[in-house]
Amino acid sequence: MNAAAANSAPTNLALDVEAVRRDFPILSREVYGKPLVYLDSAASAQKPRQVIDAESRVYEEEYANVHRGVHYLSQVATDKFEATRTRIQQFLNAASENEIVFVRGGTEGVNLVAQTWGRQELNEGDEILISTLEHHANIVPWHLLAAEKGLVVKGIPIHDDGQIDMDAYRSLLNERTKLVALTQMSNALGIITPAQEMIRLAHDAGARVMLDGCQAVSHSAVDVQALDCDFYVFSGHKIYGPTGIGALYGKAELLEAMPPWQGGGEMIARVSLEKSTFKKAPHRFEAGTPAIAQTIALKTALDYVSNLSLDRIAEHEAMLLSYATERLQAMGGITIYGTHSAKAGIVSFAMDGVHPHDIGTIVDRDGVAVRVGHHCAQPVMQRYDIAATVRASFALYNTTEEVDAMIASLERVRELFA
Ligand code: PLP
Repeated sequence: MNAAAANSAPTNLALDVEAVRRDFPILSREVYGKPLVYLDSAASAQKPRQVIDAESRVYEEEYANVHRGVHYLSQVATDKFEATRTRIQQFLNAASENEIVFVRGGTEGVNLVAQTWGRQELNEGDEILISTLEHHANIVPWHLLAAEKGLVVKGIPIHDDGQIDMDAYRSLLNERTKLVALTQMSNALGIITPAQEMIRLAHDAGARVMLDGCQAVSHSAVDVQALDCDFYVFSGHKIYGPTGIGALYGKAELLEAMPPWQGGGEMIARVSLEKSTFKKAPHRFEAGTPAIAQTIALKTALDYVSNLSLDRIAEHEAMLLSYATERLQAMGGITIYGTHSAKAGIVSFAMDGVHPHDIGTIVDRDGVAVRVGHHCAQPVMQRYDIAATVRASFALYNTTEEVDAMIASLERVRELFA
């Protein structure tokens, strides 16, 4: 497609994006006197009015500590707080709400599994497979554990198009493999991994699977039972919810056998001066006062995307991704990383002769917010022998006009460096 043809954006959107955009107050602000073009939702998504209101409503009307009070407000807050657990259970299609542990985000979820399940179940010489696509959050906790316990961490390679090399994966699996730590969607490239097939193969080899859903969860519906993953993590702030709250899903029998990791209030059954005993999962893993208002508002965020329909959101984002990809390709001199067709909502690229950080800084002056750098996924950069990329990530509120604004700004970058 040439640039002119690419300019004629598709119009028959199933999602009413203009109505959606009105829900997000921040999208109407300007940056340096230009309309904000927010293409950094993979780092953190903006929040709809509904979520902002839900969080402030807690403080205005329903706030008290949870799980501790007999008084009215504490019970209201506890009921609302626990309603989010039930909502996450439905959202992920977990078998029971007891399989949902509240954590601060994806990072804390992975660390929890490493420090409890991993410390208890893994022994010297055991192998952990991590894919080249992993975010540091699904790498470093395993390195820390490996150093402590004498484990072996091995990388699953990817093809040039960014997709997992399944032959290599099959040959890496063996009787020493105890865990596969895998992202469902790469935050650096947007590639969707063949998680279901990889989980099946891991289980055939006797290994457990930790699936990192931090990126995937806002782009398509998740069914942890169909996936049959052993653990699943996501962060609320990437799915239009507040920061400071996320969830860890774990199969009931695994969570029940795992020791606590942080000790304190609310995770105990009984404490004497000599000894503590602990609650059942998930409460055993939730020491101390949690992020109450944020947790309650996360339910509103999940309701928000469900009401719009994840299928429609996925369709809209796929349209934006293919439109942006075509327009970037039409520019020439652009290298796109991650070209496999199984992809959602992210395009990662470089421009000949211009450092990604210069691009990010220049387009920012046009109001265009993109991410530049290694995206906390240095092994991906090492795979392509690059230091950084420019990453544009798309969410349900982005438009083809915003893609056009990014392209126009990139054209200006090109002129500056010509
Ligand atoms: N995993 C992936 C794929 C991510 O993209 C991110 C955040 O960018 C994380 C894990 C870590 O999430 P958080 O920083 O919310 O804990």
